[in-house]
Amino acid sequence: MGMFDTLIFKSFFTCEECNSEIKSTQTKQFENLLSTYTEGDFIHGAKIITGVIKEKLLCNNCSHSQQDIFISIWHSLFIGAYNNYNEAEKRIGSIEKTDLLDYIFFQQKRYVEFIKEYNSFYSLVYRFSEYCEDKENYFKNMHFYFSRKELEEYVKNDNVNETLKNILNDFQGNQDRPDDKIF
Ligand SMILES: [Zn+2]
Repeated sequence: MGMFDTLIFKSFFTCEECNSEIKSTQTKQFENLLSTYTEGDFIHGAKIITGVIKEKLLCNNCSHSQQDIFISIWHSLFIGAYNNYNEAEKRIGSIEKTDLLDYIFFQQKRYVEFIKEYNSFYSLVYRFSEYCEDKENYFKNMHFYFSRKELEEYVKNDNVNETLKNILNDFQGNQDRPDDKIF
């Protein structure tokens, strides 16, 4: 099947066959490095710097794959995706400073969310590794109530592999569509 990149849309498309919401699509028009781009991201490897790229939507519900969309790119910045070419072209001509500020705000928010998520993940795995070194006494010496409660939940089954798998699953769940909580 080969590699591709993924575009996540700020406004969802509707499948013309089954009316399902389409929230993202795969494209082979950029670097094909399994990168994910959301509106406001700089796109790497696009054949154009500023302009409109035509792409097909793929509906995950009914597998319809003949619906065209038009992606607006301005100075390598992904600035929108539309049902028709004229709208996509209009977007390029009407980009304003406030749009750029919105994108900066969005990127910063996403960065803060990511760091928060990463720190929780790191701290949980770190605490778990400490716990494994001294299971008998670890909770006796742990003063932070919420951290202790959280870890106690994870180690209930007393199986290292299971616990690690559960931690990974829980954090994977948060990574599925990180932009959901921002848009
Ligand atoms: Zn469909």
